[in-house]
Amino acid sequence: MRRFVLLGSVALALSVIAACGSDDSSDSATPDTTATLTIAVAFYPVEEIVRGVGGDGVQIVDLTPPGGAPHDLELTPQKVTDLEGADLVFYIGRGFQPSVEKALAGLPDNVIKVDLLDTVTLLPVTPQLAGTEGEVDGEVLEGNTDPHIWVDPANMITMTKAVEATLASAAPSEKAAFASNASDYVGELTALDGAFTTQLKTCESRTIVTSHRAFEYLANRYDLKQIPIAGISPDEEPDPKSLEAVAAAAKADGVTTVFFEEQVPKDLSETVAREIGATTDALDPIESITQDRLDAGTTYVSIQEANLASLVKGLRCT
Ligand SMILES: [Zn+2]
Repeated sequence: MRRFVLLGSVALALSVIAACGSDDSSDSATPDTTATLTIAVAFYPVEEIVRGVGGDGVQIVDLTPPGGAPHDLELTPQKVTDLEGADLVFYIGRGFQPSVEKALAGLPDNVIKVDLLDTVTLLPVTPQLAGTEGEVDGEVLEGNTDPHIWVDPANMITMTKAVEATLASAAPSEKAAFASNASDYVGELTALDGAFTTQLKTCESRTIVTSHRAFEYLANRYDLKQIPIAGISPDEEPDPKSLEAVAAAAKADGVTTVFFEEQVPKDLSETVAREIGATTDALDPIESITQDRLDAGTTYVSIQEANLASLVKGLRCT
């Protein structure tokens, strides 16, 4: 915000010069680099929203490095410094990234802080599957709610609109540009949501066996049922008895594909798949994207399109 106060005086000074008839058109056409809002974001999907809405008019600091895990992120001293220099922060609170919340508590009041969890309807953590042992994993928010809100494209739309409203109030002069950008991105997400709805309408199985409990919002949105393999125990691997319980539940639901994540070892998914004679396929929870994939043009939307193709195949949808 400090920058915007400054920008306001620069703009005023320029208009005064213009009014005096000493305007130099080449000067006024030069983009003022101080016009940039600096926005800190919690992790990748939020970065895509903010970049989508803010366009070139914003500078983004992603607190989670490319390819890094967002859950329980530990901020580096450099990231804390970056955070301190931000005008706005979009984060996921309630214990998702305690080190971010701790740093936010020390920021001055004029930094706009938006907890995106406040913009959507939260789901409770799904009860643990009967027959599995150990504690539920550590990916639980205060209030026993599930943090993985971004896997539902409809939540992404809601968050995009919230980001648009926040940016517009922080930089009213850019309101029209933010609205236009947001409308484009919401259009992409709406098409994605429509594709999920249509293509997952008629499937032989509606049960997704996932490697960790990241897909409840997606399952809830498109009438699927999630059986997570992890989400049984935070640090140690599920015991054989728990894996058997997962396999039995999967078999009862006609599961023929067990999903894994590229970012984690897939041996547990393979164990369950072997037990029930199923195949495995990738399903990405979009918690992070490596720099290589970003450079290759991978986006939230493109990953979700790949996820949808995996689901259509794995659930035998027609
Ligand atoms: Zn997760």
